[in-house]
Amino acid sequence: MLALSDAFEKMQASMGHIKLHIPGPVEVSEKTYKAFCAPMIGHRGQGYKDLVAKIQPQLQQLLSTKQLVYLSTSSAWGVMEGSIRNLVSKKVLNCMCGAFSDKWLDVSRRCGKQADGLQVEWGSPIRAEAIDKKLATGEYDALTLIHNETSTGTMSPLAEIAALKRKYPDVMFIVDSVSSMTALPIKFDELGIDVLLAGTQKAFALPPGFAVFTCSPAALAKAATIKDRGYYFDFVEFQKNAEQSMTPSTPSISHTYALNSKLDEFFTEGLENRYARHKKTNQMTRDWAVKHGFTLFPEKGFESVTLTCVNNGAKPGGRTVDVAKLQKLVKEQGFLIDGGYGKIKGTTFRLSNMGDETEATMNQLYAALDKAMAQL
Ligand SMILES: *Cc1c(COP(=O)(O)O)cnc(C)c1O
Repeated sequence: MLALSDAFEKMQASMGHIKLHIPGPVEVSEKTYKAFCAPMIGHRGQGYKDLVAKIQPQLQQLLSTKQLVYLSTSSAWGVMEGSIRNLVSKKVLNCMCGAFSDKWLDVSRRCGKQADGLQVEWGSPIRAEAIDKKLATGEYDALTLIHNETSTGTMSPLAEIAALKRKYPDVMFIVDSVSSMTALPIKFDELGIDVLLAGTQKAFALPPGFAVFTCSPAALAKAATIKDRGYYFDFVEFQKNAEQSMTPSTPSISHTYALNSKLDEFFTEGLENRYARHKKTNQMTRDWAVKHGFTLFPEKGFESVTLTCVNNGAKPGGRTVDVAKLQKLVKEQGFLIDGGYGKIKGTTFRLSNMGDETEATMNQLYAALDKAMAQL
């Protein structure tokens, strides 16, 4: 972790900044902010095109794809909603296992689409067998899946689910990897899925307001047949513009600069090292929880590697504490942790290790947590 410059440290202190260990947005480095503050350029000029042309192969390598990776000036939900508008003509199956994935059913219906939910208990993953049963009815032409359900800290087995695509080639597989992309390998072409998307304020550790996504040729062909897919999130427009290293409308050029800087960091560190770092710091967080007598909220074997959802009474077993008090005691030491999301607020709490966090920075968090625990 780079030491902060005096000026940056002073600025953060003057604003009363609390270091973010919530699972998004996550802490943004000084280096990333500096890149974000690059002087403005025109988005139809050669400078911007050169910038996008430089990062495009890095994004393709990151996602293991030959497809173009698109830049969307929106949070992840823009592309999540856009996927529904672009790819659903018959009926969509929304796989639901937590707050974000549950919401996707509501969003599908708000877009005027026929939609069914495949609901499992929060903390459980989505399994291929259950999806297979639903798709076998022939009712669906699309499904949505959240790879890493951030509200419950649960990761569904993406490869196992993606393998179903071979059995149902005409169903569009739309995958949200908002809080997992860059933290573990997700090989788009090999998985054979149709859409992969992520917002950049999670594991990318960029400021919020930007998303990246890619589409299969089949998804682009399907989108072209849909009449009311709108403009701002029209996948056909994204492809047409990306071929010229551009975006349909004026993008957040600042985010593009920041993404450029971040991608250079990823490849300097090495993707494998980055993945190993997330695995290690996540294991350290799980160990911290177990050491203090807690159990983990997700079903065993399906825990996220980017955050830890600690059980605090939502499920039987393990210790419970006053989460609001824990948050307060940790905050006084300069760290913001999450007190649980939606219906498991207070009965779980979440600690993020995604983005730039290292063993050293995580140890600072555990020290603050230890001190807080001693006062509870
Ligand atoms: C944060 C998150 C979202 C929503 O992202 P926005 O940036 O708020 O649009 C969607 N899916 C997952 C898995 C998330 O973690």
